[in-house]
Amino acid sequence: MAVTQPAPVAPPVTHDGILRRQAQRESAARTYARSLPIVPVRARGMTIEGADGRRYLDCLSGAGTLALGHNHPVVLEAIRKVIDSGAPLHVLDLATPVKDAFTTELFTTLPRELADDARIQFCGPAGTDAVEAAFKLVRAASGRSELLAFTGAYHGMTAGALGASGGAPDVRVSRLPFPHTYRCPFGVGGERGADIAARWTEYLLDDPKGGVPAPAAMILEPVQGEGGVNPAPDGWLRRMREITRDRSIALIADEVQTGVGRTGAFWAVEHSGVVPDVMVMSKAIGGSLPLAVIVYRSGLDLWQPGAHAGTFRGNQLAMAAGTATLAYVRENKLAERAGTLGARMLARLQALGSAHPSIGDVRGRGLMIGIELVDPEAEPLTVTAESGSAPPPDPALAAAVQQECLRRGLIVELGGRHGAVVRLLPPLTLTDEQAAAVVDRLADALSAAERSPNRRAAAGPTR
Ligand code: PMP
Repeated sequence: MAVTQPAPVAPPVTHDGILRRQAQRESAARTYARSLPIVPVRARGMTIEGADGRRYLDCLSGAGTLALGHNHPVVLEAIRKVIDSGAPLHVLDLATPVKDAFTTELFTTLPRELADDARIQFCGPAGTDAVEAAFKLVRAASGRSELLAFTGAYHGMTAGALGASGGAPDVRVSRLPFPHTYRCPFGVGGERGADIAARWTEYLLDDPKGGVPAPAAMILEPVQGEGGVNPAPDGWLRRMREITRDRSIALIADEVQTGVGRTGAFWAVEHSGVVPDVMVMSKAIGGSLPLAVIVYRSGLDLWQPGAHAGTFRGNQLAMAAGTATLAYVRENKLAERAGTLGARMLARLQALGSAHPSIGDVRGRGLMIGIELVDPEAEPLTVTAESGSAPPPDPALAAAVQQECLRRGLIVELGGRHGAVVRLLPPLTLTDEQAAAVVDRLADALSAAERSPNRRAAAGPTR
């Protein structure tokens, strides 16, 4: 007689129990789960509800993924339509009407010069996969292997992408200075700092004894996200375009975080008018489901069949959700909305600086905003033209602010070189009232964290 095993008993849905089991069972490498001990059970727009019944305004948005917030009706409808149609959900890289519609919609959003001559490669589902694909593409096309990447960059966690990120040295990557107004490596800040950074790049590339072999490509983020919300000045970006074009070096724009309206333009490179040779896209293009692609000039399409593959590069639900998201952002001019609302939030946050000396710098573009927190009583670290001298970053205060925000029903991200930048990545659909509530709660949280006797507790890891 067969012995029937008792059916496994599902653990009860209790807030504390789930968090306890997570801490016991999940990897020591987990990140957000440490600093944001919540158990989301429902979400709509900008609001997340936890298993404990608490509600939060979400300024993390899946690390900048949710252009339309959680569970937007057009996204849900697009997903349901595919499921109800009986279409296959998994097809590797075969052609489907769903993919055809996605590609058409994506190409309508591209800078004209690129759209007219573009090829697309569907990659494995993560941004880092698309970064790896971009590297393979330019290496195959140029026959060179070296890359140029920037201080403070973040491109992902797989070997090549990590090697191109600041803080992860790779022998095949030459590191160049990314302009930084607040902590200018040359001590001058602003346009002059950006000019010196560009000259340094030019000098290094043309110096036969500079130690930089001829590279296959330069990769950059138009606004560094994880690196602490550092917008590249438009003039500097144009210089990078000239420098790379003049030397036959492909320019890769990593728009994984900046794309789909986030910075006030559909693609962040549009602010400068720069048209890169390769664009890396992920996060928002999948409408909250995993999707990653590279789009590039047809002249680079010299790799062999199968040079880049991945079992999950045909995610139909993500393509449908992505098509709906791209179309909604385009039709409702959400990039413009992100630009105006973001500028208003930035101005309000900058105004807080007079009452809070721990706000070292407030910067951003569109709805990609960073507040760098500093210790105003400590010895200055760097000298900049704009602000005189900049005090050292205060990661412990930033961690305390994140906790105080959570207590006030606001989810924020931390980033930056030292984890001292409070980052806001709200959905592009946020209302004026929600934007005001975010700034109010953040200001209140900052006051509380500044007063807190434990503010010097060790800061946790970010990302
Ligand atoms: N590039 C940029 C600019 C990113 O911000 C990220 C993720 N934060 C990535 C690449 C990597 O994407 P993923 O985590 O999906 O691999």
